Amino acid sequence: MSLRGDYDPDNIFARILRGDVPSVTVWEDDNVLVFMDVFPQSEGHCLVISKASKARNLLEVEPKALGRLIGAVQRTARAVEKALNPDGVAVMQFNGEAGGQTVFHLHFHVVPRWEGREMKGHGHAPMADMDELRALAGRIATALD
Ligand code: 5GP
Repeated sequence: MSLRGDYDPDNIFARILRGDVPSVTVWEDDNVLVFMDVFPQSEGHCLVISKASKARNLLEVEPKALGRLIGAVQRTARAVEKALNPDGVAVMQFNGEAGGQTVFHLHFHVVPRWEGREMKGHGHAPMADMDELRALAGRIATALD
């Protein structure tokens, strides 16, 4: 799908929001959901999405929803730093297929990085063990301010 088009209400993140597809929640409030990426590029890779916005990408999102998303990204990155003690945290966001996007419900990636440890390629990481994801989500959630 290109940068332009209609929101698909059956995209995988919409289905996660509806509870049709299981996911491992880190935290949520009325506006955002933060959950573990099931194909993590590094240990602790989280995804941050809006519950209400039907924006497929950054170009479409309403400023208020974007503000809430960025606030949630910062809160998540701080908790990831506290819980997992990475050397860095990459925040990534892709727009349109040519821009590297594969799921067309706007989202931010929060990816902890460690010196000397390679990050797996975007779209090339194996599926994680669900028990490990649940344990990581619990550690990150405990570190939330
Ligand atoms: P994008 O390529 O659109 O920037 O990122 C989509 C992300 O969603 C990828 O990192 C991919 O691993 C993740 N993803 C795809 N399908 C699922 C799923 O069913 N559950 C979860 N938790 N993550 C998914």
